Amino acid sequence: MKVMKFGGTSVGTPERIRSVAKLVTGSNEPLVVVLSAMSGTTNILVEISDYLGKKNPDGAYEKINALAKHYERVVEELFATEACRQKGLEMVRDHFAYLRSFTHDLFTSNEVKCVLAQGELISSALFQLYLEEQGIAPVLLPALNFMRIDREQEPDQYYIRENLLREMEKHPGNSLFVTQGFICRNAYGEIDNLGRGGSDYTASLIGVALDASEVIIWTDIDGFHDNDPRYVENTHPIAELSFDEAAELAYFGAKILHPSTILPAKVAGIPVIIKNTMDPAARGTLISDKPTGMGVKAIAAKDNITAVRVKSGRMLLAYGFMRKVFEIFELYRTPIDMITTSEISVSLTIDDRSHLDQIVEDLRHYGTVEVDHGQTIICAVGEGIASASNAAASLFNAMEDIPVRMISYGGSQNNISILIGSDFKKKALNALSSHLFNH
Ligand code: ADP
Ligand code: ASP
Ligand code: MG
Repeated sequence: MKVMKFGGTSVGTPERIRSVAKLVTGSNEPLVVVLSAMSGTTNILVEISDYLGKKNPDGAYEKINALAKHYERVVEELFATEACRQKGLEMVRDHFAYLRSFTHDLFTSNEVKCVLAQGELISSALFQLYLEEQGIAPVLLPALNFMRIDREQEPDQYYIRENLLREMEKHPGNSLFVTQGFICRNAYGEIDNLGRGGSDYTASLIGVALDASEVIIWTDIDGFHDNDPRYVENTHPIAELSFDEAAELAYFGAKILHPSTILPAKVAGIPVIIKNTMDPAARGTLISDKPTGMGVKAIAAKDNITAVRVKSGRMLLAYGFMRKVFEIFELYRTPIDMITTSEISVSLTIDDRSHLDQIVEDLRHYGTVEVDHGQTIICAVGEGIASASNAAASLFNAMEDIPVRMISYGGSQNNISILIGSDFKKKALNALSSHLFNH
């Protein structure tokens, strides 16, 4: 069994949907295909829910109509037969009638999730119908019948496996399954999702549930690159990464993978391969438990970081101080990314600001508190880089013109993290590429 996930660009136009169909029908192993919404759709659904949330049904209505028109054109272009066009139009119209119903009904955060789910529901239904038109009969597995998160927002792996197998067993003899990425139900059975970019995570969770031989993430670039191609021109694909390297890069902002994708695959030992839908012959990136050699493999950047500094001459050296500081972050369920200490202060970074005011208020019992928004963590990742003397030296040389706010070195063998103001991000990423990869 294999799992293949196709991202938004990979299913973004009728032409792309046709190429995906070719890629999935060439497999000689049973296959589960996980689809994202067509590119741009989830962003528009977010805008629609913003209008609805702000009680502007007219604004929402206009956006819904424009998106509906777009999908009607997709249907016209995608299908060759009148029968499939009609079926496609009916399906699309049902989803848009459902969206329009929110312009006169109650709208709460639960309904936001229902709106956001429509993109994947539509793309997967279109794809299944297209394959049917080609004479292939895939099974459409409704992700809402098996994908589930618990009260802690963590995937309920037991539930996922039991229910996915139950759904698949209803179709003995079938070897091609299509399902939606991103969407799930929560502990209360309501429609929810795995966070933006979550279809990658869906794919690895399905891979684990089915003990797949591999999970292939098909996207719009020829693999994991050594730096962020949105900010740096001369980046290169990396042939192989270890699970730990890929997990750290994804966690520290490499948009190509949802940050939680790698952990379940690592635990189950299932290789994750990144491939380019536009260039299937390109090698891509293999992420596995194989050693990949020492040295810096790639740089990633995570934005919207807030740095918090607690300063207390009296308390810091007292034992128990750190515990009290950490307990405050734990109380508000706010993960800390970086931490550095000096004799009189401790600095930490967070990216979830939802409880920042309460955290700062509680920290004030222990000293003065300074908060800096608009920070970026630049992270260099590669096996053993923290102990390779030349890696750290080249890194700091590259950063010589950039004001550094914090450094985290030695916490992990695989990672050196540097905190800078976000205004310096592009300059820092480019300087690092030219020092580390492009001499
Ligand atoms: P999909 O829609 O297929 O999920 P995404 O847009 O989520 O695709 O991810 C692919 C994009 O990630 C690339 O087009 C690229 O701009 C961006 N990206 C950021 N960092 C990296 C990196 N290190 N390697 C490759 N792509 C990256
Ligand atoms: N469609 C969702 C998003 O845009 C999930 C995904 O593409 O992975 O965030
Ligand atoms: Mg993505």
